[in-house]
Amino acid sequence: MSKNTRVPGYMQSKAARNTRGIIGDREIRFKCSLQNTILDVLRGRPGWQEVPGPNIQQQNSQQNNKPAAGYQPVPPIQRNSDGDWDFYWCDREWLHQNYDTMFLHEHQKILHFRNHYELTRKNLMVKNLKRLKKQTEREQGKSEGLSFDFHPTTYELPSEYHIFVEEFKRNPGITWIMKPAAKSQGKGIFLFRRLKDITDWKKGEYQPLTDTTREVPETYVVQRYIENPYLIGGRKFDIRIYVLVVSYNPLKVWLYRDGFARFSNTRFSLDSIEDAYVHLTNVSVQKNAPDYDPEKGCKWSTMRLRQYLTAKHGSEAVKKVFKGIDNIITKGLQSVQKIIINDKHCFEMYGYDILLDSDLKPWLIEINASPSLTASGKEDYELKFGLLNDLLNVLDLENRLTGKEKRIGGWDLLWDDGPVLADDGNMECTTNGTSVTTANSFLGCHNDRKRQLREIYTSAQAIKKT
Ligand code: ADP
Repeated sequence: MSKNTRVPGYMQSKAARNTRGIIGDREIRFKCSLQNTILDVLRGRPGWQEVPGPNIQQQNSQQNNKPAAGYQPVPPIQRNSDGDWDFYWCDREWLHQNYDTMFLHEHQKILHFRNHYELTRKNLMVKNLKRLKKQTEREQGKSEGLSFDFHPTTYELPSEYHIFVEEFKRNPGITWIMKPAAKSQGKGIFLFRRLKDITDWKKGEYQPLTDTTREVPETYVVQRYIENPYLIGGRKFDIRIYVLVVSYNPLKVWLYRDGFARFSNTRFSLDSIEDAYVHLTNVSVQKNAPDYDPEKGCKWSTMRLRQYLTAKHGSEAVKKVFKGIDNIITKGLQSVQKIIINDKHCFEMYGYDILLDSDLKPWLIEINASPSLTASGKEDYELKFGLLNDLLNVLDLENRLTGKEKRIGGWDLLWDDGPVLADDGNMECTTNGTSVTTANSFLGCHNDRKRQLREIYTSAQAIKKT
């Protein structure tokens, strides 16, 4: 992506930007640990300048950062000093190593909150959700607790092994899924139905942590497998949803309209529980399937999915599905709101993974703090490019907005210390032109981000002049 790429709203002169800029009268200096779409976005953003840094060439091992077919990776530039920066898209390892000793200036922004793993490690996410559920039941009654029933029954292993065994015996014949608590991309996951499978695993297969000085077994979660996923064309899918948190205290959350459904390549069946291509919808798994077609990929946009579901089940049913997803997003964040170390310098872009079952009930599978930003094709690149550019528009380091916006490009403000309601004039969620909900939530709706950006920048400029 070239420097000439302009997003509407960036058409102002440098002088105009500088007079309102929070950074002062100079370029915004950025660092970036990744070499994928985010680097293209940062390098293509007018008025932003890359600064050298030692870890910029270090690839984030958690992500598959191979460039998408057909895209030339941006060549790494020479970096030999740790320059001063205003914005840092860092990897989690860097943050862990440096956060406690670094001093951040007023204007600096950095990706990730210090202890994001409270939500993104599979065992901790469930623990935090269970705790908030209990607290809600205590304070507001059992029925309120039902709004937390969106993650499959889960136990941490080895610590909760005995409770799990009791639960296992109460439900003979059902399928369970074992997942390493801190791994991603489907690594180490397997399905089972017999306790014997797990006792074998328990005896011999605990993988020690990478820290060889500690002989502690790797933490896993064992989870009830959703045996009745919603199928399209006989295939299972999950939905990737992007959520931006700019503050935990007060909680301020944006939801991106676009996302995608990731399909498995092979028709769903409960007969072959050992077949990852049937049961795991991760792109990193599916792209290794023998008949995977990289051109076609295995993705649908969330809008296409919403249209499909609306045509099949009607808008009322679909409204309920998406309301359920909003509930999952906010409850997930509330469950760690008091635990995450809030810092005005930090922001987080989460990738939520949601699975629908055959009754159209949404289930939370997991929350990622480093959702893949590597594009799997042209459409995927466009989605991610817009998503990340609009993220920078929300953060607004250039200080060109009023701070009161409820929509910025493809991001809609979902929670601002409480639920955000859509403006009457903004009830345009559409697959068919009618309004869908009163919440300011437009997942899977038309994303006319460029037009919208033009409007808000013009109106912010007019407001700021007066
Ligand atoms: P990872 O972090 O390794 O991607 P996930 O928890 O996201 O692990 O699981 C990988 C995939 O496995 C999911 O995308 C989903 O397709 C499938 N999966 C995970 N948990 C369940 C479950 N409880 N029921 C059905 N499918 C599941």
